[in-house]
Amino acid sequence: MHELSIVTSIIKTSEKEITDKNERVLEIFLEIGKLSGIEIASLNFIWELATKGTVLQDSKVTIAQPEGKAKCLDCDFEYHLEKIYDSCTKCNSPFKSIISGKEFKINKLVISNR
Ligand SMILES: [Zn+2]
Repeated sequence: MHELSIVTSIIKTSEKEITDKNERVLEIFLEIGKLSGIEIASLNFIWELATKGTVLQDSKVTIAQPEGKAKCLDCDFEYHLEKIYDSCTKCNSPFKSIISGKEFKINKLVISNR
């Protein structure tokens, strides 16, 4: 159900971009980080049904999935993060700042009649 509310928010945001009722979204580019907790498989699964009758019906979806990356706060080492609670692969410290992987945004909408 988590993914359904995500698709709903994507639809709402897209609708705000549409100014004319003859317009529709041809293509949508999403950025969903691997640490965002959003399951792409579930999202794809409900996408078609959830967007039916909306401005996103039949639009082409492209999803970029940035890898998880963190910088250790103890030794400054930058490392790959498979899961959000992984520790530093160099010194094993759990203290870190997340550099990438938590993204969730619409990068671009391609709208018809423009
Ligand atoms: Zn470290």
